[in-house]
Amino acid sequence: MSQRHVFALSRPALGLRGSDSLFPVRRIFCVGRNYAAHAREMGGDPEREPPFFFTKPADAVVSGGGPIPYPPRTEDLHHEVELVLALGQGGQALAPSACRALIYAYGVGVDFTRRDLQRAAKAAGRPWDMAKGFDRSAPCSTLTTAADIGHPRKGQIGLEVNGERRQSADISDLIWSPEETLAHLSELVTLAPGDLVFTGTPAGVGPLLPGDSYRAWIEGVGELYGEILPPS
Ligand code: MN
Repeated sequence: MSQRHVFALSRPALGLRGSDSLFPVRRIFCVGRNYAAHAREMGGDPEREPPFFFTKPADAVVSGGGPIPYPPRTEDLHHEVELVLALGQGGQALAPSACRALIYAYGVGVDFTRRDLQRAAKAAGRPWDMAKGFDRSAPCSTLTTAADIGHPRKGQIGLEVNGERRQSADISDLIWSPEETLAHLSELVTLAPGDLVFTGTPAGVGPLLPGDSYRAWIEGVGELYGEILPPS
């Protein structure tokens, strides 16, 4: 006799460009301070810090962007545009040279952050979860497969708000490459198919207000559009 769940639970998923299939999302890992200029704007020292990680719930993902309500309990919602890795394979304690093969697809994501809550958590030595892992805090574009575009390691990454440029850099400026990032992360957890990794944001993070619209892009990877609605 097989046991059934007491209610149905659907798995979050992202669209794949040129396909009717969906990429099922297992977990969302995020890298802190992975571009030198952003590490400095957050008060860090990019020369000395190995990568560090935090997570968001899988259902924080918002497939394809679009409108989201301004989140509760913040007066300082920030945008962070990031290259997203979508893993089709997993593993543990991997060498960087073994990690490229894990990446099934790439996307453009925005790591929404309640910066005021993050500041308070840092000051109190408390976890970042409620600053980073709130509802709809991880919009992500339709994914593009490595089979289609290869493994982009350079190209402009940017974000504009209401048509005004806020963030602009190149993914070749990443302190820890996707392969190095996955290798570090695989020392901490066993990576698995369906995992997303937000690889960190360049400098220029800043506030989003109700009524703002944004466009995020990575050359050769994709684009993401969204807007912030009044609080629901
Ligand atoms: Mn981030």
